[in-house]
Amino acid sequence: MKKDKILVIGACGQIGVELTLALRKMYGDANVVASDLREEHELLKGTGPYVSLDVMNKEMLHVLVIRHNITQIYLLAAILSATGEKNPLLAWHINMQSLLNVLDIAKEENLDKVYWPSSIAVFGPNSPAKETPQHTIIEPTTIYGISKFAGERWCEYYNHRFGVDVRSLRYPGLISYKSAPGGGTTDYAVEIFHEAKEHQKYTSFLSENTYLPMMYMPDAIRATIELMEADAAKITVRSAYNLSAMSFSPKEIGAEIRKHIPSFELSYQPDYRQQIADGWPDSMDDSQARKDWGWKPEYDLEKMTADMLKNI
Ligand code: NAD
Repeated sequence: MKKDKILVIGACGQIGVELTLALRKMYGDANVVASDLREEHELLKGTGPYVSLDVMNKEMLHVLVIRHNITQIYLLAAILSATGEKNPLLAWHINMQSLLNVLDIAKEENLDKVYWPSSIAVFGPNSPAKETPQHTIIEPTTIYGISKFAGERWCEYYNHRFGVDVRSLRYPGLISYKSAPGGGTTDYAVEIFHEAKEHQKYTSFLSENTYLPMMYMPDAIRATIELMEADAAKITVRSAYNLSAMSFSPKEIGAEIRKHIPSFELSYQPDYRQQIADGWPDSMDDSQARKDWGWKPEYDLEKMTADMLKNI
């Protein structure tokens, strides 16, 4: 039987660190090669193989895949929503070309599976904001959302046309304490915990009643692995699955934190990220993921807040 050998690209980011550690536990340390542009993350050091890689360099990526006998790729390298708005052409170039490089090598080398995340950013102001369905109006207005939507179409195309087993999730905003977020519109929901613990106050860059879909990192990691482990016959969506756990506003998360830190003060100073958030869903309908491969979140706002404050 062929042994799984996994390459994680963008392994030093907010998701990559935790996903790499989880995959190493499942597949064995030596069978999960971590890679990134950045220096190896502290939490990854000594836990398994690490290589320096620019995913934009297709030849280098191809050589790496052959040399390490890679059978699965998890592509996490990207320019996120808030950073993308500062340099739209760069965000488009990196987000698209990285995916095309990976999909094409997966096709050429006949890899077993590819994972690439999409985002709630594919939706725009014309999509229904509450319980946004899997299939609905998709008119993203950020360059990040446009690149994710185009990426979804490429994934489905490579699956239908060339049989590449590529799988994807539309992650909500992800909250974690192990590795810092990388320039997204939902970063406030991570910063707020650090500031609450260190200074008992925080100024949110989103307004008090801005609801967004959110998820705690352990749920996101489990969802990713469960999707990738699912029988291929169960995967009916080859673009990207809606994925949901909770939805809250800055005011609501502030109130939840205040249950643990009564002196916590929250103020609001919306900036350019408010406009991005205003175009995104408040909550998501993930019934297709639940039906196809049994998705079920474990963390709600209360449980996540207690765990975040205990661990940071
Ligand atoms: P991040 O910015 O924290 O990490 C991305 C990593 O990719 C970084 O370590 C960066 O150094 C690396 N990278 C960038 N360019 C690279 C290149 N050319 N070659 C190799 N590595 C490169 O991002 P994240 O939050 O971990 O997100 C991972 C994926 O999940 C992205 O596709 C993102 O769009 C998606 N996503 C994230 C969230 C979230 O809330 N974090 C939500 C929805 C979707």
